[in-house]
Amino acid sequence: VTKTVCNLSEMLEEITSFIQSSVNSKIKYEIHDNKGDLYADVNQIHQVLNNLLINAAQASKNNEDITVAIKNCEVNGEDLPDLRSGNYFAISIKDNGIGIPNEHKEDIFKPYFTTKEYGHGLGLSSCLTIVKNHNGTITVESEIDLGSTFTVYLPIRGQNQ
Ligand code: ADP
Ligand code: MG
Repeated sequence: VTKTVCNLSEMLEEITSFIQSSVNSKIKYEIHDNKGDLYADVNQIHQVLNNLLINAAQASKNNEDITVAIKNCEVNGEDLPDLRSGNYFAISIKDNGIGIPNEHKEDIFKPYFTTKEYGHGLGLSSCLTIVKNHNGTITVESEIDLGSTFTVYLPIRGQNQ
């Protein structure tokens, strides 16, 4: 693991335009606020965002739009039990695709869980491991036939206990 100070919005813009060239959904990109630095292993965070975007595109069977957004957010212990209180980047990847059935919501982060004919089921489990190694977490909200939003929380450098 080689951590450096990195520019999150630049990284996301680069990944988004790279993935855009190979998927049919339109990927929209919103920066709400993006103050502070991210201290992270760039290659690993790349991999996380890639996996989530590819999953979003695969869930968008009718090429529905995907929205990627960054914002700063303050987390208190009770909001997200996995996180220490402090300030975080919240990077959300929202699709308007097939959604996730309630009975799968616990399993999707487990290794080898897949509902795809040629899936490996390793994307989300490795994403969660990487993000937890960066003292962050990933949450998911989803509604069948309406779509899913995965949010990656990563600490803003120097603003967490
Ligand atoms: P894989 O993509 O190889 O199936 P992942 O670990 O990336 O493995 O995802 C596991 C499972 O979680 C998928 O097979 C799918 O059922 C579900 N999933 C992940 N992302 C989404 C999404 N954006 N919309 C709907 N289902 C999803
Ligand atoms: Mg995947």
